[in-house]
Amino acid sequence: RAKALGRNNYQHYTAEMSARTHDRLQMQEQLRQALANHEFRLVYQPQVDLATETINGVEALVRWEHPMMGLVSPAQFIPLAEETGLIVPIGDWVLHEACKQNKAWQRAGMPPLTVSVNVSAHQFLHEEWVARVAHALEESGLDPRYLELELTESLIMRDLDAAVATMKELQRMGVRLSIDDFGTGYSSLSALKHFPIVRLKIDQSFVRGLPHDEDDSAIVTGIISLARRLNLDVIAEGVETVDQLDFLLDNDCHEIQGYLFSRPLPADQLNALLRERSTWSRNVVATDRHR
Ligand code: C2E
Ligand code: MG
Ligand code: MG
Ligand code: MG
Repeated sequence: RAKALGRNNYQHYTAEMSARTHDRLQMQEQLRQALANHEFRLVYQPQVDLATETINGVEALVRWEHPMMGLVSPAQFIPLAEETGLIVPIGDWVLHEACKQNKAWQRAGMPPLTVSVNVSAHQFLHEEWVARVAHALEESGLDPRYLELELTESLIMRDLDAAVATMKELQRMGVRLSIDDFGTGYSSLSALKHFPIVRLKIDQSFVRGLPHDEDDSAIVTGIISLARRLNLDVIAEGVETVDQLDFLLDNDCHEIQGYLFSRPLPADQLNALLRERSTWSRNVVATDRHR
C-alpha cells in the first residue's frame, strides 16, 4: 500500500511539476511579449515629509496590464522576471519611464520631487548598470538628484565589495541611494556604515504592529534613532492608520508612505494630488478617516 501511495504521490508530484514548468514557460513568454506590446505601467505612491507636511517624493511601482488577466501585481511576476533575467529590460523600461515622468512634472511647473525606483540584484550587478542609469538620466533630462534608487540589503550583500563600488559610482553621478525593506535583510551595521546612502526605508512588517506590539515599536524606534545618528533620512512604509502615524510623529520619523495618505496612483491622478500638496495636514487625514 505504501508503495502504491508513494507511486501515486510521485505521479502527482511530476504532473504538478510539469504543469508548473509549463505555467512558468508560458508566463515567461507572456512577459517577453508584454515588453514588446507595452503592457507595463507605472503607478506612483507619494512620500510625505512629516515636518513640512508636503509630498517630497514618489515611489514608482510597476504594474502589468495583461490583456486577459487584468492588472498583475509585481509580486506575481518580478520573481520570475528576476530568475529569467527579463528584469533587466523590464527594469530599464521602469527607469526610463520614471525619469521621463518626473521630468514632465517638473516641466509642468510642479515643485521638484524625487522619484524612487526599485532595483533588482540582476539589474544592479549587470556590468552595464551604471551606464544604463546615466542613459536614462540623459535621455529624460532629469537632474540626477531627483532620482533615488532603492536597493535591498540582500542585493548589496550578494557581493558587498562590488555593490559598494557601484553605489559610489552612482553617488558620484549625483543619484540618491536608499535601503528598502530595512531590517529584513542581512546587512551588518558595520557594513551599513560604508554605504553611500541617504535614506533608510523601514519595512512595513514592522510598521504593521505599531503602536501596540512592543517588539515592533522597539525595532521602529531603534531604526529611527540609528538613522538619525548616521545622518540618514528615514521613511516608514505601509502606514495605514492614524495610530501608526501618531507613533511615528512622536518618535521623530522623517517621512511616511502608505495607504493612510495615498495608494499608488497613475501619473495623471497624482497630478491633482500634487497640486493640493500644500494643503495636506495630519488633521485632514484624520478627519478623512473618521468620516
Ligand atoms: P516595495 O518596494 O517595498 O514597495 C512597497 C509595496 O507596499 C508596494 O507594493 C506598495 O503598493 C505597498 N504598499 C504601500 N503602502 C501600503 C500600505 O499602507 N499597506 C500595504 N499593505 N501595502 C502598502 P507593490 O506595488 O505590490 O510592490 C511590491 C514589491 O514589488 C515592491 O515592494 C518591490 O519590491 C517590487 N517592485 C515593484 N515595482 C518594482 C519595479 O519596478 N522593479 C523591481 N525590481 N521591483 C519592483
Ligand atoms: Mg521599494
Ligand atoms: Mg519596501
Ligand atoms: Mg520589497
